[in-house]
Amino acid sequence: MAAPAGPSAVAVSGEDAFDLVIIGGGPAGYTAAIRAGQLGFRTAIIEKRGTLGGTCLNVGCIPSKALLHATELFDEAQHGFAKFGIRAENVSVDLDAMMAHKAKVVGELTKGIEFLMKKNKVTYIVGTARFAGADTIDVTLNDGASRVVKAARTLIATGSDVSSLPGITIDEKTVVSSTGALSLTKVPKKLIVIGGGVIGLELGSVWKRLGADVTVVEFLDRITPAMDGEISKNFQRILGKQGFEFMLSHKVTGVKPTKKGATVTVVPVAGGDEKVLDADIVLVAVGRRPYTDGLNLGAAGVATTERGFIPVDAHYATNVPHIYAVGDVIGGLMLAHKAEEEGVAAVEIMAGQHGHVNYDAIPGVIYTMPEIANVGRTEEELKKAGIAYKIGKFPFTANARAKANGQTEGFVKVIADAATDRILGAHIIGADAGNMIAEVVTAIEFGGAAEDLARTSHAHPTEMEAIREAALGVNGGIRQM
Ligand SMILES: Cc1cc2nc3c(=O)[nH]c(=O)nc-3n(C[C@H](O)[C@H](O)[C@H](O)COP(=O)(O)OP(=O)(O)OC[C@H]3O[C@@H](n4cnc5c(N)ncnc54)[C@H](O)[C@@H]3O)c2cc1C
Repeated sequence: MAAPAGPSAVAVSGEDAFDLVIIGGGPAGYTAAIRAGQLGFRTAIIEKRGTLGGTCLNVGCIPSKALLHATELFDEAQHGFAKFGIRAENVSVDLDAMMAHKAKVVGELTKGIEFLMKKNKVTYIVGTARFAGADTIDVTLNDGASRVVKAARTLIATGSDVSSLPGITIDEKTVVSSTGALSLTKVPKKLIVIGGGVIGLELGSVWKRLGADVTVVEFLDRITPAMDGEISKNFQRILGKQGFEFMLSHKVTGVKPTKKGATVTVVPVAGGDEKVLDADIVLVAVGRRPYTDGLNLGAAGVATTERGFIPVDAHYATNVPHIYAVGDVIGGLMLAHKAEEEGVAAVEIMAGQHGHVNYDAIPGVIYTMPEIANVGRTEEELKKAGIAYKIGKFPFTANARAKANGQTEGFVKVIADAATDRILGAHIIGADAGNMIAEVVTAIEFGGAAEDLARTSHAHPTEMEAIREAALGVNGGIRQM
């Protein structure tokens, strides 16, 4: 079979031979499959879950956002409507209906991906892939049968799975991972979240709004440690006002199921007395690990790092030139849109094109209320790298639209190179931060300067004007404050 032009393909033949076989139907895999179909590759995608969309659509981004939105509406109706003169009495939650909405959204979106596979002439194989050699993949089909496919190239996009701590067993009933926390059947009275990162704080917010007391235990001395320090400090203060309790610099040494729920044993990192906390539900949100279980990488000769990630070169090729890897399984930011970018770039490179991912322009968003969004470098990173920078900041209390909407919490911070004015990063806390950050991402993608943002017309009144004001502030020109 003649594979499309481009480097690194091996010759394969037979009925079940493909130009490209993709293992894993998450954002990395399904987006790569669409691009491969568009570029004329004979493509197969193997997914064992029974539905496409991977972690993101099934147990990640989408179900969490469905619950975050629903609970935000509930919270608004209870605590936010009155200031607008709207009376909403006896507002209550039907948790089953909320979960049904979530399931409906997930079902429709995963089916949508299946449609996109058909549209792009991608063969969807429902089963578990296992390398039998560098160009041969055995698939145990979910219906019990088996199939052997030949791959001129393979793209590994098997993603990640939840990780835990030594001595903690996740039963998905009382000691849950994010997956269990997305499907609790009743609101816990007391939820202990282990880990003050994105997933713990988003899912903590969901159950807090529904009435749980939430305590976050974090090993480090701050939440969201990779984030700009000023942002994470303010974020913690705001969550504290919402009723979150934080035990920072505390280490969890054990979690034990009890008749009523579980106990969590913690000790201060600096040393000190052990404390035992009671909880109905414990959410373990300490990160995710690369997932290559059962893939039999050894048969293909594909190497992994000590931590289990698959190392790749600048073209997303593994140490075996015709086997590529993208997404969570190669490490870096574990984000769906990063995985998608890599999937597309890898396939374009396979086709002899110039696929490329600009890692300086990958936004990160936490979908709490207010939202947190960032792109590019933090102040801490720039200090460490010895890069001179300037900052412009603008609070939402001075933004007309935010005031009209009653959502004045937070600010925009734009960081630019001191010498060239080129934008190096932006960090936003605000109700609509996740949408707003896109403007700065675009500016960075085009190599823009703070002055470019500052001279761009922004509709009035919008929260986006706060970005312009912050950009004006980089060179001391704020107008609306
Ligand atoms: C609760 C939660 C919320 C999140 N929210 C966001 C968010 O808001 N925004 C964001 O950008 N990211 C979010 N993420 C992260 C995002 O889900 C991941 O970064 C993204 O799914 C990674 O995509 P991927 O394709 O690399 O891997 P995955 O989505 O993990 O997909 C890999 C797929 O490969 C399949 N697979 C593995 N091994 C085999 C095999 N041997 N044979 C066949 N199939 C196999 C798996 O079943 C899986 O479906 C969230 C994650 C979680 C857990």
